[in-house]
Amino acid sequence: MGKVLIIGAGGVATVAAFKVAKNNDVFEDIMIASRTKSKCDAIVKAIGNPKIKTAKVDADNIDELVALFDSYRPDIVMNLALPYQDLTIMEACLKSGVNYLDTANYEPRDEAHFEYSWQWAYKKRFEDAGLTAILGCGFDPGVSGIYTAYAAKHHFDEIHYLDIVDCNAGNHHKAFATNFNPEINIREITQKGLYYKDGKWIETEPLSVHQPITYPNIGPRESYLMHHEELESLVKNYPTIRQARFWMTFGEQYLRYLDVIQNIGMSRIDEIEYEAPMADAPDKSVKVKIVPLQFLKAVLPNPQELGSNYEGETSIGCRIRGIKDGKERTYYVYNNCSHQEAYKETGMQGVSYTTGVPAMIGARMFMLGLWKKPGVWNVEEFDPDPFMTELNKQGLPWHEVFDGDLEL
Ligand code: NDP
Repeated sequence: MGKVLIIGAGGVATVAAFKVAKNNDVFEDIMIASRTKSKCDAIVKAIGNPKIKTAKVDADNIDELVALFDSYRPDIVMNLALPYQDLTIMEACLKSGVNYLDTANYEPRDEAHFEYSWQWAYKKRFEDAGLTAILGCGFDPGVSGIYTAYAAKHHFDEIHYLDIVDCNAGNHHKAFATNFNPEINIREITQKGLYYKDGKWIETEPLSVHQPITYPNIGPRESYLMHHEELESLVKNYPTIRQARFWMTFGEQYLRYLDVIQNIGMSRIDEIEYEAPMADAPDKSVKVKIVPLQFLKAVLPNPQELGSNYEGETSIGCRIRGIKDGKERTYYVYNNCSHQEAYKETGMQGVSYTTGVPAMIGARMFMLGLWKKPGVWNVEEFDPDPFMTELNKQGLPWHEVFDGDLEL
């Protein structure tokens, strides 16, 4: 039994809070803290458990975080804010002696670039402090790494080829919307593609490599090769891997809008000067600095509000080829998640659900002492078995196909 502090009050944090509250056999005291306290209060109201505490915190500010951690004294902090806050929250955890978990690796605000080096650099400090940091514990990254670890433990002597396949076959009936934070999502999708082959990283033009992949219960969907952060840790932790790639589906309409957004400069992440009318004197103007992508986020649909009209399902899995007992084998492990089922349970759509549930399970693993070792770790460095068992119990059941056609 222990205390958990959730930072952030978006779609993922909402799902995680619902699930943490349900798992009251291990989480005895819960606090949700975010930039806007009213959003934390709204989550507590939706869950209907007034014992859950809330607080306001600016997670970019280490001193504010330390003050909150020192007063609440959580056992673990679940960072479900944005990747920009990873390092400040890790610093505060070290200062206050608190364990850490997140779902996305650090990104600097001024550069759409993600890699683990910034967070791996904290390994020795967490080790020396006797604290555990669990990195990337959503679905992908997260369950994708745990699936790979499970495959390596039970089904392969050597993994040679790994393809992570992520399909959202849902329809939210909006012309254009992202399924998680629009700023982070558009930064990720507009980056160059990257995959690993024979010890080298190969770069591709954004969304230029694609092919149809058939997803269970969904059918064939055009899938695009992208860079995704878990590839970096998986090829390091499974050195027999010869090729590792990540594929995600996008509809034609989504890509058309994305193209326009990019071509008109709305995906820019540098500051531009904008002449805005003054609030108290509209005939006068003042020059303000804005980041076009952040402005776009303000006018796009809020991913948290997509759930009620969302139909269809997601399907995310790992397609693996390798050797077992001297013979070649293929293995496909996946989960399908219905947007409507997720909405009925938590008020959020499937993408928030598939991220928030594994985050809770990771914190549960820590609380039970099953995933507890000083240092900074990616999820595949822990025992996958108890986590896989929990996925089946907590709403994300998985399925296996042996020696099928991987299509890749
Ligand atoms: P949202 O934008 O819905 O929520 C982010 C929350 O963080 C908001 O409540 C926001 O506050 C809060 N926040 C932002 N900045 C600060 C700050 N400085 N201090 C305190 N709180 C802050 O995002 P999502 O819920 O969609 O995503 C959450 C995380 O999950 C992201 O890091 C995303 O990359 C990750 N993710 C991971 C996936 C995976 O499978 N691994 C998949 C999908 C998402 P406010 O409400 O005031 O804006």
